[in-house]
Amino acid sequence: MSILVIGSVALDTVTTPFGAITEGLGGSGTHFAISASYYTDIHLVAVVGADFPAEHLRFLESRKIDLRGIEKVPGKTFRWTGKYDYDLNNAQTLKTELNVFEKFMPKVPDACRDIEYVFLANIDPDLQRQVIEQVKKPKLIACDTMNFWIQGKRDSLIRTISKVDILTINEGEARLLAKESNLIRAAKKIHAMGPKTIIIKQGEYGALLLHEEHIFSAPALPLEDIKDPTGAGDSFAGGFMGYLAKTGDLSLPSLKKAVIVGSAMASFNVEAFSCDRFRNLAMDEIRERYRLFKHLSHFDEIEL
Ligand code: AMP
Repeated sequence: MSILVIGSVALDTVTTPFGAITEGLGGSGTHFAISASYYTDIHLVAVVGADFPAEHLRFLESRKIDLRGIEKVPGKTFRWTGKYDYDLNNAQTLKTELNVFEKFMPKVPDACRDIEYVFLANIDPDLQRQVIEQVKKPKLIACDTMNFWIQGKRDSLIRTISKVDILTINEGEARLLAKESNLIRAAKKIHAMGPKTIIIKQGEYGALLLHEEHIFSAPALPLEDIKDPTGAGDSFAGGFMGYLAKTGDLSLPSLKKAVIVGSAMASFNVEAFSCDRFRNLAMDEIRERYRLFKHLSHFDEIEL
């Protein structure tokens, strides 16, 4: 099954303790689409400015991502400037320049309105809802967000969240959204807002899946060489949704496997700046990494 995604397509300027990149290919929609493209057909809705390099569009096309929903308009592309210190779990936003996203009205191409799997990557919650309104018979809607929107457009965000099945969110942002420091209580409050499934991303500590009354904890791969965590959350979501859309199986065991696929995709993303690790990532490497995750967290029963 195909996935329809709306999100930012950006030029990111990022500094980490291990290097820096100026105006590299980024954006929540971009990272999601590239990651999910390993599993199924992806249709991306977004806007870019006249300054957006054609080579970035060519890279997305090389991943067979459908770009008919990307508008190119006069003006400047969305830009994000961020920095990480040695604690790579927390991005510091230095600058957010919405630019062409300020006046953007997403238009889902007619041919994409029947798509059943929808991902609302991190972007203005008003735009996320405009996409929900244009799809005819969604089977699964998942959504991501960040502190920028939790603080800046809280009411609109809560309206969007009330319409989705799954919310993926960082640990700190879950606390901010729920106004609750205990994560389990925060998740309960978010469940009450609408989504029956919540994934709390904990950076280098992994991810928690809270589905109805079940909790599943997935580790992150202990990696020796991390360059840039930007986009890890979106790559996670891409692997997670990609696996669900590919199998069409939304049972709890399938959700758990999808969380590990997502974790594997995030673990690749952080190995290079921007989306560069995906320029030469082969499916066999993904399979191998899934196995590594299995070994990492497997243990046997004991008799005590
Ligand atoms: P993450 O997966 O959370 O690391 O997402 C990083 C991506 O989110 C970057 O490539 C940014 O371009 C994008 N981003 C940052 N701030 C925003 C925002 N306010 N709205 C939409 N996208 C954003």
